[in-house]
Amino acid sequence: MDSVSNALLQKKQFFIDSVAKFCDKCGTPYTVDDLNIVQSTGAGTIIHFSCQNCKSKHVASLVMPLGLSQRMPVNMDLDSSEMEKFMSQKELTKQNILEAYEELKDLKTITL
Ligand SMILES: [Zn+2]
Repeated sequence: MDSVSNALLQKKQFFIDSVAKFCDKCGTPYTVDDLNIVQSTGAGTIIHFSCQNCKSKHVASLVMPLGLSQRMPVNMDLDSSEMEKFMSQKELTKQNILEAYEELKDLKTITL
């Protein structure tokens, strides 16, 4: 395995460990294959989870102002390609993450 994909796998494993280890709906453990990093900048990271078992989709973001992390997971029906399209329209900043969630506010917010 080359070092770039190895680093990506480690990053994905980190998000599984720190954000969502299991599917909210059916409890199936996520693997690195179920996770897609939609966007990652110094201001934060948006991760898309999809469950192999029940096909439910889950999006989480980590915002890191001053080294603090914050989780704002939502359930949503967009698939990861639609999410990428949505998020690629603008540079990701902390404010943009909040705006994105405003635009998606009909979606249910879950507190982990
Ligand atoms: Zn599931």
